[in-house]
Amino acid sequence: WDENTVAVVTGSNKGIGFETAKILAEQGLTTVVTARNEELGRSAVAKIKEAAPNARVLFHQLDISDAASIDRFVEWLRSELGGLTILVNNAGFAYKGNIFGADEAQVTLGVNFLGTRALTDKLVPLLQGPARIVNVSSRAGLRSIVKSPQLLSRLTSAKKPEDLEAMAGEFVDAIRSGSHSAAGWPNSMYGTSKLLLSLWTAQLAEQLRDKNVMVNAMCPGWCRTDMSSQSGTKSAAEGADTAVWLALRSPGELITGGFWGERNTISW
Ligand code: NDP
Repeated sequence: WDENTVAVVTGSNKGIGFETAKILAEQGLTTVVTARNEELGRSAVAKIKEAAPNARVLFHQLDISDAASIDRFVEWLRSELGGLTILVNNAGFAYKGNIFGADEAQVTLGVNFLGTRALTDKLVPLLQGPARIVNVSSRAGLRSIVKSPQLLSRLTSAKKPEDLEAMAGEFVDAIRSGSHSAAGWPNSMYGTSKLLLSLWTAQLAEQLRDKNVMVNAMCPGWCRTDMSSQSGTKSAAEGADTAVWLALRSPGELITGGFWGERNTISW
């Protein structure tokens, strides 16, 4: 790995994304830090450069729930760097406390699933081999959170991303009409968003298998970041370990379509 390999990490101004970007930069890759907030992103780049003074670390603003921001970022990446080899979809969002509602579910899905998918769709044409996509998902979105076997079967047999997006819409509508529990949906907006992310990861892996692109989902474990109110059992750097490990797998083997934690496959 050297500067000719471009790695993009979403939500890398802090937490697991920051640590992921830092390790990739330390490994000598050209690393693109992205953040919704420009000032926070640039300050993250400065911190990474302190740790890895010779590394090529760039910044561009990116809010994955904002189509215009995605377009600006993709255009910049195309003109500035020509493409990318590694995409770590780390950006994620969760409400704190007991907040639960249709609008909030739309926001949560809009970042964790729909936003990640929107960005990835635009970046896939710019991938340069041996390309890897790592989606930072969560064990909060295991299949077992779905209470209805019929609903689970519809989710797991979905063949197209559009089917999953339609089901994301069903979840939001069901919350709005007060019927989500009866329909078998979980009481977790975050869990549902990560389940949809993991299901879509498996679809994308199949779609890109012929192109030798490795696409995997992973759970970082419970990490001390702002998302967990600093209450996890792992550091953010420990949480980044499996994401980096998947991103830097040797090109000889096509490890794709898995769900990983602590460098092992997880049955989900
Ligand atoms: P943090 O809250 O520390 O970091 C989340 C990052 O995502 C921040 O950079 C945040 O930006 C960014 N982000 C949020 N919304 C958007 C958006 N719309 N567009 C772009 N970036 C956005 O959390 P973690 O580091 O813990 O989380 C990283 C990933 O790990 C997430 O996907 C999370 O779901 C997952 N995860 C975390 C676990 C944990 O225990 N911490 C456990 C399992 C999974 P900003 O600073 O602007 O808010």
